[in-house]
Amino acid sequence: MVSFFVPHSKPTLTNSDIKSVAQVIRSGHIAQGKKVEEFEEKIAQFLNVKAAGALNSGTAALHLALLALKIKTKDEVIIPSFVCAALLNAIGYVGAKTVLVDIEKNFNLSVKEVKKKINRRTKLLIVPHMFGLPADLNELLSLGIPIIEDCAQAIGAEYKGRPVGSFGVLSIFSFYATKMITTGEGGMIASNDKRLIEKIKDLREYDKRDDYHLRYNYKMTDLQAALGINQLAQLPVWIKKRRSIAAQYSQILAPKGYELPSDTRDKTHAFYRYVVTLPQKNLSLLKLLHQKGIHAAPAIHQPLHRYLKLKGFPVSEHATDHTLSLPIYPSLTPDKLHHILSTLQILL
Ligand SMILES: *Cc1c(COP(=O)(O)O)cnc(C)c1O
Repeated sequence: MVSFFVPHSKPTLTNSDIKSVAQVIRSGHIAQGKKVEEFEEKIAQFLNVKAAGALNSGTAALHLALLALKIKTKDEVIIPSFVCAALLNAIGYVGAKTVLVDIEKNFNLSVKEVKKKINRRTKLLIVPHMFGLPADLNELLSLGIPIIEDCAQAIGAEYKGRPVGSFGVLSIFSFYATKMITTGEGGMIASNDKRLIEKIKDLREYDKRDDYHLRYNYKMTDLQAALGINQLAQLPVWIKKRRSIAAQYSQILAPKGYELPSDTRDKTHAFYRYVVTLPQKNLSLLKLLHQKGIHAAPAIHQPLHRYLKLKGFPVSEHATDHTLSLPIYPSLTPDKLHHILSTLQILL
């Protein structure tokens, strides 16, 4: 009997990735330079926005986005509870107040819940496109509060035929190892407002400046950018692969009546994750899958309201304990996918 080990997530790294990084090493210029500039231009082109600035993480991108928008103490920033702690941290760095709201069953911000929390101190919404599904951008934009799109999980997803990351005042990206595309660690901010991106480029480095104010060292390296450029070129094919894997999961799971991820008329899913909502709690099924070598996972580790010991987030609460995130990445081989599909057929 063949035994399988299928990790929950895995970066996709190719021979051409290796070549492009090796070239930078040979060039002798490895810190922020021409490759970073080229990566910024390629991202701006991809999103069809005016400018982009590269950083060393998605968290740094969130931090500088908040600084560029002058978010400070006493300002309120609305985010969903069902997201990673990076958002909470970034808001904490600038001393602003985080206001959590609940999500919809599709894991994105509930517009209805956002409306309830808006008051005169509300300065900003951070809107993640969770697991690669675009949020309700039109409805959120119509609330009249500036939006940062958090595209850390969603580069390549589309809303009304346009890439996410081109709707908010600013949009942020992460290139951590297991994101849609990777630079090991890395981040980006994009915008149609060139001045905001200039501001961010000023804040990300401290050396050889004529004036002094607080600045950071949040730079990306040319090594990372070379990898990022090459990864970005492969993204369209990878999204097709992700969507094909998703379609195969859905084919098996749809007849069984579970809540499944999918496109809608306005939203093209990038399938960063394939997250199923179960009627029962997820622990026993996760265990059974692990025994078969399949490392599925809950969709997130902890919703933020639990960290903050807050109550009243029923959908986030339910999603935390009832979700199953299945392995989905371009390097998932057909034999492993087949093993997962046949195991699901039996277990679910
Ligand atoms: C990964 C992620 C971040 C943070 O990015 P890092 O590069 O890990 O700092 C922020 N928001 C979301 C939705 C993420 O998935």
